[in-house]
This record gives sequence, C-alpha cells and structure tokens, in this order.
Amino acid sequence: MAYNKNNIFAKILRREADAEIVYENDHVLCFNDIFPKSKIHVLIIPKNEYSNIYDFSKNSSINEKESIFVAFQALIDLFKLDKKGCRIITNHDVDGRQEVPHLHFHFLGGQDLGKMINI
Ligand code: 5GP
Repeated sequence: MAYNKNNIFAKILRREADAEIVYENDHVLCFNDIFPKSKIHVLIIPKNEYSNIYDFSKNSSINEKESIFVAFQALIDLFKLDKKGCRIITNHDVDGRQEVPHLHFHFLGGQDLGKMINI
C-alpha cells in the first residue's frame, strides 16, 4: 500500500486536524479515537509515514520500533492498567479492515473487553 499523505492521521500529525493527544515521544503520537469502542480507546501512531504494520516492520528503525513499545508502557502507566489489563491491536489492509492508511494500534481498556473474535 503506497503511503497517502492526505489520510486523517497525517493531517493530525501536521496539526491540520485536531486530536486529543494523551501521550507523545520522539517517534510516536497517541490520541483518543474519535469513535471510542471502549471506555479507553487511544490510537498509537508512528510520526513517520508508514502505511501499515508490514511497512513499519520492514522499513522502520530500531528506535522507531522501540518507541512504540515505550508508548505501550506509558499508556498502561497513564491509565493504571498494569493490573487490570488492556488490548492492543492493529488492523492490516483488506482482511484486517484497515480504514486509515497510516499504521495505528488501537489501545483499548477501562472495562472487560470480551473475546476478541468469535471463532
Ligand atoms: P482502522 O479501522 O483503520 O483500524 O481504525 C481507524 C480508527 O480511526 C477508527 O477507530 C476511527 O474511529 C478512528 N478515526 C477515524 N477518523 C478519525 C479522526 O478524525 N480523529 C480520530 N481521533 N480518530 C479517527
């Protein structure tokens, strides 16, 4: 998937669109999802242009990869979820039903999230 600079998360990164930012580090921005699916629903995105998890896994630096995990820990601490838990998922391309073509992780928590999928 070629990167599309007009996607909404690219606009948020350029500060052309608003977002409720909850955490930021050198390589990562985290903000509330506009249509939350749980009490806590934060989107975690790399600041550089990666379309999806495959693009990021293949092309990002070690520092960028590490920064994603630093953000995971920061959000768990921020929302005090280390005992209760949470769910972190990413949707990839067609079968994953990815809608916004800039890599993002959904950070969900604050309640029992149920089973992830019914199989
Ligand atoms: P996907 O389906 O691509 O995995 O998830 C895209 C997510 O982006 C959805 O949960 C959707 O609610 C969220 N989203 C779409 N547009 C906006 C927006 O303008 N602002 C914010 N904060 N979230 C958005």
